Amino acid sequence: MRCPYCYSDNDGVRDSRIVEDGKAIRRRRFCNHCRRRFTTYERVEGLLQVRKRDQTHQDFSRVKIERGLRAACWKRKIEAEEIQKLAAEIEAHILDNYEKEVTSEEIGNLCMEFLRDVDQVAFVRFASVYRSFSDAQDFVDELTPILKIKAKAKKKKTSKELDS
Ligand SMILES: [Zn+2]
Repeated sequence: MRCPYCYSDNDGVRDSRIVEDGKAIRRRRFCNHCRRRFTTYERVEGLLQVRKRDQTHQDFSRVKIERGLRAACWKRKIEAEEIQKLAAEIEAHILDNYEKEVTSEEIGNLCMEFLRDVDQVAFVRFASVYRSFSDAQDFVDELTPILKIKAKAKKKKTSKELDS
């Protein structure tokens, strides 16, 4: 990114966040040459892409990360707020380190790294589901229903939802 003040092409990213309902990434940058700060907004076409193992791409989504973490932390003594914070930290880390593309594997590994420091059980859950699906984006989609089914099986049947 070229500095708007001195035009040198040597900047660093201070922090990044997704804004406008996921339609843009705001990056606060600083120029390593003149030391001034500036902010960039990257629109949809510049939005970080996740490359899956099958080589297809999809938009990066913090919501998916958060959903996967929440499923892994199910019934653990972890506040919803802490999970949100964790997802935000993972997002910030990814946005600061990957400008255009991140692989689903890298996202999965990061989630595991962060979870390991928070809760061992959640980490193992996440890791086992992640490894068996071997795709970080898919496992997020798969993890939630699996844990929900387990939760349901433990509860008494109170509805007639299976009648159809
Ligand atoms: Zn500059």
